[in-house]
Amino acid sequence: MSRLPAQADRPAGCQFRARAGSRTASMCHLNGGRGTTSSGTVFDIKKFSLHDGPGIRTTVFLKGCPLKCRWCHNPESQAPEPELVLRSGRCILCGECVSACTQGAVSRVNDSIVTNRHRCVACGACAAACYSGARETIGRPMTVEEVVEEVEQDLPFYEESGGGVTFSGGEPLLQAEFLLTALRACKERGIHTAVDTSGFCEWKTLSAVAEHVDLFLYDLRIMEDSKHREFTGVSNAGIIENLTLLSRGGHHITLRVPFVPGVSEDPENLAQMAAFAAGLRHVGEVNVLAYHRMGVEKYARLQRVYELDETEPPSERRLEEAARIFREFGLCTRVGGGARGND
Ligand code: SF4
Ligand code: SF4
Repeated sequence: MSRLPAQADRPAGCQFRARAGSRTASMCHLNGGRGTTSSGTVFDIKKFSLHDGPGIRTTVFLKGCPLKCRWCHNPESQAPEPELVLRSGRCILCGECVSACTQGAVSRVNDSIVTNRHRCVACGACAAACYSGARETIGRPMTVEEVVEEVEQDLPFYEESGGGVTFSGGEPLLQAEFLLTALRACKERGIHTAVDTSGFCEWKTLSAVAEHVDLFLYDLRIMEDSKHREFTGVSNAGIIENLTLLSRGGHHITLRVPFVPGVSEDPENLAQMAAFAAGLRHVGEVNVLAYHRMGVEKYARLQRVYELDETEPPSERRLEEAARIFREFGLCTRVGGGARGND
């Protein structure tokens, strides 16, 4: 889900490298009770993406994530169910939403509109009644057929550019059955597939999906488990194990490393990560992804607190220093996303 440089920014000579050698969350699994095999909850479909894998891509964002990364720039992706977002600056105090809500979740208090999220069931009635665009529901059910129909529209661009479809999130494996069915459908149509994942799921789920995935964009955040728990809410043990197994299975992987000041930036963490990655067989590329603040306003729209409010984006120099650590371990590395794939 990173949004960074396009192909022109890629370092020359990077090739696929085949070498020898707190809070708890439940892991994603098949038949996890979310939706059916043919319907899932999607919160966005982005066309002409250049930053979610090789070539021109359509990125399908599935809703729901078992992690709670404190720097997450898509907080609307975290809850598995649809939810209401509010842009209070657009409100003209017409009161239409108060009348539209059958749950008693919206009320006028003095000169403002107050929404009680405990009562809200995200039905969308208030958003439909709001002419100013101050209310919106994020996340909608879609069938596999609907998703694939959208993805197929850009087949000529994929063929021309070496692109395809990327399933992202949230954590796409949280809707594993839907993802599996969608991946199969895309492969049947000859579309290159990528999955952008945290890797936080049961191995049997990941392995079932993996045979239909041409490229994994696999996030690796923090190597020290206690710190990983502190900043993401979950252990990294399964994430690291799954990554190892994927690599042993010959699956193509682009590692994505978020550079978050005060969290994952320390050279020791980066060197541990690089040493681990260098021991994997099928990591074609490492992308160092800069922390940014583009999602901060979304927290207010969801009436949530952004915990890294004091954190500033890193300089290019610090990002390059981080990339150099990975290169010193023989890994093809660059700052930014837009993976070239493992061709
Ligand atoms: S989404 Fe539905 S339940 Fe929630 S505030 Fe709006 S009308 Fe009420
Ligand atoms: S319907 Fe929209 S503009 Fe009108 S009071 Fe509600 S939020 Fe404000």
